[in-house]
Amino acid sequence: MIPVTKPFLPPQEAYSKYLTGIWQRNWLTNMGPLASELEMKLKKHLQVNHLLFVTNGTVALQMAIKALDLKGEIITTPFSFVATTSSIVWEGCTPVFVDIEVNSLNIDSSKIEAAITENTEAILATHVYGNPCDVIEIQKIAKKHNLKVIYDGAHAFGVQINGKSIFEYGDISTCSLHATKLYHSIEGGLIFTKDVALLKKLAYIRNFGFDGPEAFAELGINGKNSEFHAAMGLVNLDYLDQISQKRKELTVRYDENLVTLKARRPIWKIYSENNYAYYPIVFESEELMLKCMEYLKSNEIFTRRYFYPSLANTLPYLEPMDFEITDKVAKCILCLPLYPDLSLEEVDLICRLILRVQNN
Ligand SMILES: *Cc1c(COP(=O)(O)O)cnc(C)c1O
Repeated sequence: MIPVTKPFLPPQEAYSKYLTGIWQRNWLTNMGPLASELEMKLKKHLQVNHLLFVTNGTVALQMAIKALDLKGEIITTPFSFVATTSSIVWEGCTPVFVDIEVNSLNIDSSKIEAAITENTEAILATHVYGNPCDVIEIQKIAKKHNLKVIYDGAHAFGVQINGKSIFEYGDISTCSLHATKLYHSIEGGLIFTKDVALLKKLAYIRNFGFDGPEAFAELGINGKNSEFHAAMGLVNLDYLDQISQKRKELTVRYDENLVTLKARRPIWKIYSENNYAYYPIVFESEELMLKCMEYLKSNEIFTRRYFYPSLANTLPYLEPMDFEITDKVAKCILCLPLYPDLSLEEVDLICRLILRVQNN
């Protein structure tokens, strides 16, 4: 059986080493020493000045919307994971969808201005598969119309734009450290901002709004994470080079094997580099995609329609809306298995099966 993804697990001894300290200190959560150490090491690794380690990537998005005091409409992409949209609704704001751009599969920045109304307060865009949005263009639009910008960087760990961390863009950026992501702490998330006052506000929000043991500075929530999760994050940092190297090898192998496939891949921004978080392919038709998916499944190989369906016409709490490019891409896209434990031979097998379907 080949799953679409398999969380990376380090050698058990490497994790166990951290447990001894946790037992000695008896400090399990509430921003303990391991959580602080992880924040410090991640700042260094990602070359950013500020970040907060939080419960998960969804809470990170909710905290971002709350911290920026957003109330009205938020322009966003229909081609993302549900948390991008649900966080907007959960925080009492209204998502306004804009179609995606055909090459990058990110929100089409040239269509954003047409969606702005007097109630628009922000843009929340996803760096889909880690491929950067048009950050410069979006910044220009935001400045012109006095909007805030939040980036859902759940897929974008380690990505740089012109040598600078992708998380430095926008008023706030977030990341997910969920077990299925490129780099993980089992459950976990990160929030980034360059604005020190905003960072302080986010830190209050993360801890129920507490300002000392008996006073409150903000409306807060429990957005903290535990020492056990931080320990997994710390251990996994040591394997990151290994993980990235393997994912790159697998990706190159897929690319080589599938040159004759009638399908395309998202086109990566030239000023950036793939972090090999996913292996998505957009088939020419939904029919061919489904045939491949079924054939692989009958061979115990599992793929995922990611993202499908479009967030704009499936959520029971929103009026359905169609978008030409999003709907087409969502129907034809398939993510193939990609995880560090996958072997090159398994990739060869997957590709042979896919090509067999096409050439039959
Ligand atoms: C995974 C993911 C999230 C949510 O992150 P969690 O840590 O699972 O809460 C949000 N947005 C996107 C695009 C994701 O892929």
